[in-house]
Amino acid sequence: MERSSGDARLCEGDGCGRRLTGTGQRRRLCRPCLDTLTGLLGTLPALYRGCGSALEVGAAAGLREKTSGGPLPGLALNTAAVEARAEILAVLASWSGLVAQQRRLPAPRRDVALLARFLLDHVDWLAAHPAAGELTAEIARVARSARRTAHREPVRRIVVGPCAAPGCGGELTAAIRPGHGTRVRCDADPAHAWDGPQWTGLRREMEPAAPERWLTAADISRLWRTPSGTVYRLASEQKWRRVTRAGRTYYAESDVHACFARRAEKGDRPRI
Ligand SMILES: [Zn+2]
Ligand SMILES: [Zn+2]
Repeated sequence: MERSSGDARLCEGDGCGRRLTGTGQRRRLCRPCLDTLTGLLGTLPALYRGCGSALEVGAAAGLREKTSGGPLPGLALNTAAVEARAEILAVLASWSGLVAQQRRLPAPRRDVALLARFLLDHVDWLAAHPAAGELTAEIARVARSARRTAHREPVRRIVVGPCAAPGCGGELTAAIRPGHGTRVRCDADPAHAWDGPQWTGLRREMEPAAPERWLTAADISRLWRTPSGTVYRLASEQKWRRVTRAGRTYYAESDVHACFARRAEKGDRPRI
């Protein structure tokens, strides 16, 4: 273990951590991660179209069920396909917006093929950007969620702990649905339910004197269901307080909260 020369840089690609070697001085991604990223960017327009056909299958199934008077299983698939498509578009548009803003270029039209092409044209610049790791994670996530839509992946459930409502003895479970974000629910009372952002707000209310919590851009992106590109843009526009530890940037949760609460009030809450 020679950790003495602090210049061994590791790949920041999603779940990678390989040692970066060679001449790509500024690049934060290893060759396999860069190849995966370009491959997925090239595939996303086809996945987007694929979700379009899932949509048609869903609608057709829904129609058939409707005539027999039963439930509408097609409807769930339908919604998931709509969400997966919206998510691909939102993520590509968000990162294209970041490239356009920081490179002072006109952003392409909101079209999946054009946006993916635009990101591919700037993929080397993106691979050197501090957000390169988040980009690989988000692109992988939307690609996974689009593929899941086609395979009707069930909802994942995670036990959170005892219910936060006063006097309630129920247990909270977080349901994570591809393309739907996180929903925290109580098994004792259906009225005890929160979505991801409300949940962090509630925790702060329960402990008003709690010290500031610090979140990574990836945490913020998951909790507020907002593409990382938008998170980075808001962080710099709104000057969120930040700290850097071990090369990672963390943002003050209360600043993030205030920012998204203002956006929600104005009605321009980000929508994926
Ligand atoms: Zn890598
Ligand atoms: Zn409860």
